[in-house]
This record gives sequence, C-alpha cells and structure tokens, in this order.
Amino acid sequence: MNTHSVVELQKKGILLHRLVYVLLLLQRLLLQVLQKDVTISNTTMVVIVVGTFFVVEEVSSFKNYFDSVRYVRILRYVECLLSAVMMGFLQLDENSEASIIGLILLFMFDLFLSMEVADKDKVFSFAGMVGVPIVAIIIIRMSISLDYKWLFLFLDMIIIFLILFFEGYLFVEYIGKKDEKIFSQKREFDEVVEKNENILGMQNKLKKTNDQLNVQRINLQKANQQIQLANDEMIAQAEILHYISMSFDLAKISNQITDSIMRVKQLSFCGVYIKEDVYLNKHASYVIKTTIGQLYQKIKESLPEICDIMVSDDIMELTLHDAETAKVPFLQNVNINSVYIKVLTKDEEIYGVFIIGDSRRNLFKENMSFYNAIIAQYDIAIHNAIIYGEMQQMARKDGLTGINNRIYFNELFKECIMQIEKDDTCLSVALFDIDKFKLVNDTYGHLAGDEVIKRVATLLEDFISQYNGFVCRYGGEEFVAALPGITLEVAQPIIEELFDIICNQIIHYNQYEIPISVSIGLTSYPEICKTPDELLKRADWCMYYAKEHGRHQINVDDGSIERV
Ligand code: GH3
Ligand code: MG
Ligand code: MG
Repeated sequence: MNTHSVVELQKKGILLHRLVYVLLLLQRLLLQVLQKDVTISNTTMVVIVVGTFFVVEEVSSFKNYFDSVRYVRILRYVECLLSAVMMGFLQLDENSEASIIGLILLFMFDLFLSMEVADKDKVFSFAGMVGVPIVAIIIIRMSISLDYKWLFLFLDMIIIFLILFFEGYLFVEYIGKKDEKIFSQKREFDEVVEKNENILGMQNKLKKTNDQLNVQRINLQKANQQIQLANDEMIAQAEILHYISMSFDLAKISNQITDSIMRVKQLSFCGVYIKEDVYLNKHASYVIKTTIGQLYQKIKESLPEICDIMVSDDIMELTLHDAETAKVPFLQNVNINSVYIKVLTKDEEIYGVFIIGDSRRNLFKENMSFYNAIIAQYDIAIHNAIIYGEMQQMARKDGLTGINNRIYFNELFKECIMQIEKDDTCLSVALFDIDKFKLVNDTYGHLAGDEVIKRVATLLEDFISQYNGFVCRYGGEEFVAALPGITLEVAQPIIEELFDIICNQIIHYNQYEIPISVSIGLTSYPEICKTPDELLKRADWCMYYAKEHGRHQINVDDGSIERV
C-alpha cells in the first residue's frame, strides 16, 4: 500500500471514528442516567479522553494533518496507548469494557492500516509496538490489584490480538501477493510501454533520418542534373567551336548551332536570321528549328521585321515572359511563356537576330551564360566568314577588273562542263583580245591602258551575266565568256552585239579619247568541239585567226580552223 492510499484510507476512517465517539459518549450518558453505580469520575474521564480524540481528529482533519502518514501513525499510536491506559486504570464497569476494547481495536486497526502493510517487517514491528505496551499496562494493572477479571481480559486481548495479527498478516500477505502480481504486471506493462516508446522514438528518428536522406537524395539529383546540364552545355559549346573552326559557311554553322541548342536545352524553338550581304551572302539566311510545326514559316516571315523594329527602338536584347510573349506577332495563341531575342551585331553593325522560346515559364531570367557564349561565338563565326569571303573574293577575282580570274574561271568552267554533260546541253565559249593594246599603252600610258582593260571587263561581265553566262580575265588584255546552254547559232548574235558595244566605246582618259577594238574567237560544244576540253583551245585558234585576218572581227568556228 503506498503513502497516498494510506492517507486516503485514514481520511475515510475518520467518519467511523466520529460515529464511534458519538456512540461512546451517548452510551456513557445513558449509563449515567440509567445505572446508579456508574461513577461520575469514570464518565468524566471517558468524556474527556474521547472528546479529546474527537477534537484532535477534527482539528487534524481540518488542518489536513492527515496528509502526513507519519502524523497519522503517531496519532493512532498515542490513541491506542491512551485507550489502553484508560482501560487499565479506570474503574470500569462491565458495560464500558467492550466499548473500550472496541476503541483499542479501532485504533489498533487504524494503526495497522497506516503501516506499509505490503512490508512484512512493518507488520511485526506493529505487533511489537502495540502488543508490548498493552501487555505492560495489563501486567502493571494486575500487580496493583490481583484480579482474575484482568487475567481473563488479558487473555481476551491476546486472543483478539492474535486473531487480528494473523488475519492481518494473512491479509497483508494476500494483498502483497496481489500487489506484487499487479506490480509485476504493471512493470511488464510499463516495460512494454517503455519499449514501445523506445521503438516509436527510434521509428521517429529513422523517419527523420529517412526524410533527411530523401532531401539529400533530391539535392544530389538536382546537383547531378545541373552537372549533367553543365556538361551538355560544355559539349555543345565545344561542338559549336568545332563547327566554327571547321567551316566558314555561316548557314551551315547556324544549322549546327541551332541543332545543338535544341538538343541541350530542349526548347520549343530556336532561330537565327542573318541579313544578306553580311559575309558576301547574296541572300538572307534563315535557320529555324521548332517542335511546333506551324511556327516555322511564321518565325521565318517575322524575323526581319522583329530585327528592324528592335533596331529602330534601339533595343538590342529582349526577354519576354508569360503574357508579354503575345507581343511577338507569331506567338499569339501559342503556348510559349518565355522568349529571348538578341540583335546580332559586329563592330556596331547589325547583321541579324537570334531568337529562342519555350513553353516553360521564367526560362531566360537567369543562367544566360550558355546563350551569351554561343552568341559571342556567332560573332567569331561571322568575323571568320567575312574574312574568309574576302579572302575567297581576293583569290577568285582579278585585282584590276574585279571580274573572275583565270584560276576561278577554270573551277567554274569545270563545274559548268559537268553540269552541261549531266543536262546533256551545249556550251559556247568566246575569247576576246584587245587589238593593238601595246600601242594603247605606248600612246596613252599604262594607266590609260588599265582603264581600257577595266571598261572591257565590266562591259563583258554585265552583258554576259544577262544570259546566265560567266566571264574572266584570261590574261593581260584577254577575256573569256562562257555561255552554258547556248548553241553557236544563238551565241553568235549575242557576241556580235557585245562586239558592237565594246567597239563603240570611247575611253576618256585625261585629255585623250581612246577607241577600243577587239578580236573574238567563238566556238561551241558539242556542235564544233568534239569534247568540252577543246572549247578554250579552239576559241583561242579562232581568235588568232581573226587577228591574222585583220583584227576587229569575230571569227565563228566552223570546225575547219586548225592550230595557227
Ligand atoms: P594584238 O593586236 O596582236 O593583240 O596586239 P597587242 O599589242 O594587243 O598584243 P601584245 O601581245 O603584243 O601586247 C599586249 C600588251 O598588253 C603587252 C602588255 O604590256 C599589255 N598589258 C598586259 N597586261 C596589262 C595590264 O594589266 N595593263 C596594261 N596597261 N597593259 C597590259
Ligand atoms: Mg593578247
Ligand atoms: Mg592584244
């Protein structure tokens, strides 16, 4: 029995005490009234003692002294002894004996209940504490006046005490066992609860660790994705650098760059527009990649306009998000939420526009280094293409006249022969030589001679290009014109017209007016020449024939001319 239950028990017992005291006092009063031999002093003693018990207990109850087990035990013990003294030293009448014995038993029992009854040692000490003084009181009482009545009373007390003691002991043992069982069950239960709590704690820890691991895993995945993306970007940039270093063909480079961007960034569209005449390109170049088929044509049509608007508004770079994207004409009613447009410039010269777009939101707000690097490489590519174009121009064109030189003509001529053989068509060739040119130089000076050569070259190129032909400066004052797909018969009047134009020219140089005259040899394949290789040779023969026969004339090959 724990302290708390001892206190509770004592508090409940107080009711019984009140009842017993009231009954005892009533009994004394009744005895006093009804029986003449009852002494007043006895009654007074009982009333004082019992009244004292009553008052002390009431005060103790009121002051909450019963909350202290120690107080309860002392009080009960004192009450027990006082009752024993009262029984031993008062001249008790028969009617009072049972009442006082009852009183002693009541206190003994209360004292017993105030002990920690689960503890056997305490039960024995209780027996000693109560039994020894009572026995001592009885022995003292008997030594004062030997009365057998006291011996019987003593034996009665011993019997009651033995019954109380052994029954109490058995009760205590029973309670103890029950308590033990309950305790062990409770302990087991507590252990299970504790274990459960431990398991629960561990589970929580595990869950936390798991959560942390998950967060780390997600972070790792993110980092991995970023590394992967950075890697892809690096590979793409390396590829683009490779394209740029391998080729000067800007259209081809644009194609490969847009392919790389689409592959790495998975965009909805990517386009590059380059104006004409930027890198000696005669036509504007458009390279557009898109996953939305309908956009291709619209982007192509809009890019020059977008470029012009941005340049006129002095906007070199534009990032559009969400609803803003609808400002771009071709993006109305299309699910595109991020757009980036950059005007391409080189040395402050605008040469085109770069555009990218995607359905994902806020895509071009940050991390633009990849695109910026590509655009910077574009500048390099454009620079290279321009230089390459210029070099090619220099390699292909004659320095004085600006028309094709003989080396490039030979290339074109080879390609032309392949084409006409493939198309199974004809090719006419005319060789021009300025007459008595040495005399021009000698008469008007070398610079004047240069002017004559330039004029003839320009006239020749302008005229022949009308017939999809091509020309070159073949030597010092010699020129060749090739007319693919034109028969000798058709070529003759063309060349005659050209002959007239050239020969009607007067070159004004300083104070001089310099007339021009040319001799021309004209031949054709397959009408006259058996193979295309014979064309230039026979045209030369014809031209020399014309020189031989008085100059200022066209000699049309009839197949009869042999090497002069
Ligand atoms: P022919 O009627 O027989 O062709 O007589 P020609 O004087 O034209 O022929 P020739 O071959 O004797 O002389 C060609 C001259 O052209 C010799 C050369 O000094 C001159 N010549 C060649 N290239 C140039 C050039 O780039 N500029 C100038 N001013 N003269 C050149
Ligand atoms: Mg000549
Ligand atoms: Mg000449």
